[in-house]
Amino acid sequence: MTQKRCILLKYGELILKGLNKRFFEDKLLESVREKLSGLGDFKVSVLQSTVTVFCEDDSLYDLALERMQRVFGIVSVCIAYIAEKDPEDICRVVREYVAPSLRGYQSFKCDARRSDKKFPMTSPEIARMCGAVCLEVNPRLKVDVRDPQITVMTEIRDNFAFIHAGSLKGAGGMPVATSGKVMLLLSGGIDSPVAGHLLAKRGAQLEAVHFESYPYTSMQAKEKVLDLARIMANYTGTIKVHVVNVTNIQLAIKEKCREEYFTLILRRFMMRIADHLAKFYGCGALVTGESLGQVASQTLSALHSTNAVASIPVFRPLIGTDKEEIVTIARRIGTFDTSVLPFEDCCTVFTPRHPKLNVELSKLIEQEEKLDIDALIKESLDSRDTAVCKPMDQ
Ligand code: ATP
Ligand code: MG
Repeated sequence: MTQKRCILLKYGELILKGLNKRFFEDKLLESVREKLSGLGDFKVSVLQSTVTVFCEDDSLYDLALERMQRVFGIVSVCIAYIAEKDPEDICRVVREYVAPSLRGYQSFKCDARRSDKKFPMTSPEIARMCGAVCLEVNPRLKVDVRDPQITVMTEIRDNFAFIHAGSLKGAGGMPVATSGKVMLLLSGGIDSPVAGHLLAKRGAQLEAVHFESYPYTSMQAKEKVLDLARIMANYTGTIKVHVVNVTNIQLAIKEKCREEYFTLILRRFMMRIADHLAKFYGCGALVTGESLGQVASQTLSALHSTNAVASIPVFRPLIGTDKEEIVTIARRIGTFDTSVLPFEDCCTVFTPRHPKLNVELSKLIEQEEKLDIDALIKESLDSRDTAVCKPMDQ
């Protein structure tokens, strides 16, 4: 072994997938490799339910580790030092590399795990041995087995011993593209990127549709949405965003329908168009960032009226969350700062002064009868433009 360290990625729920485990593992390896592409020459493989990532160029590990924290399906990531499966070599590695990294900590503990049961020491013996070396190097350090500031872990595996201190949390969830494809209705706001992120975390591959009202909305508004998709792609992988102009629809609604119904009629058009695109691109569901009661178009009756025009399931992963909870996730995934940039959304351009809170579906349908729905949808769909949004971090 020429390399002195590697990255270890632990997967969670995947382990439970029985006979399908292979399929999930292959998808996971694919996303790990894709995330590392362009960064350098990495060797990625699976060993006893742990992904190992090796690189000839040791200086790339820190950057690689950061990217690995954004791979769905991984619950923890760490950089591990490699030793021969020999007590002396394990002590050497702990002394040279692991123990010095404990400087600055007050308490620690050592754990060990053997998947190779032929190794001549038991796990508690290995832990004690490593602990003794750590204390030798850091005489002021205290052992605290209940609540240590940091844990040094030694894993005796089939090929080598791996020793690491301080694992970082992974992105969790299921590997991307293990649960089919969904169409996200992506506005420039805070909510819809978070909604898409949550579905992608459960293994859905994202495709997105954005509705714009150019020239009533600016080119910057559209660029902002594409930037949001690029930030989301750091976790989800490349996202195709279909940008559909709905100005013709908004003008027709404004001309022919009653003002208090504007928003919901437009919402129903958005749903119909998204539904059409979803089926065309092989998506099994629509996803929106709606949260119950947040605005007039997100009351129960409003949600019922938009659901009524969809022919596939509509997922609203934020339905029971508060704005504050959504903002916390938006900050964590990096979309918040872009979401709050002040560019007009298409909905705000034609917003009625007094939107109706409780709408009867029959009243909406009555209003819509004044419009040539199919022709308007066709015109909008024909105007669409597709942008391929690659991850920003790659
Ligand atoms: P967001 O923060 O995601 O913009 P919001 O609180 O502003 O949400 P609404 O404007 O009522 O809520 O939109 C509800 C949902 O409808 C959005 O989360 C999104 O899924 C969809 N949507 C709204 N406007 C657009 C748009 N211009 N393009 C695509 N989808 C949209
Ligand atoms: Mg919005």
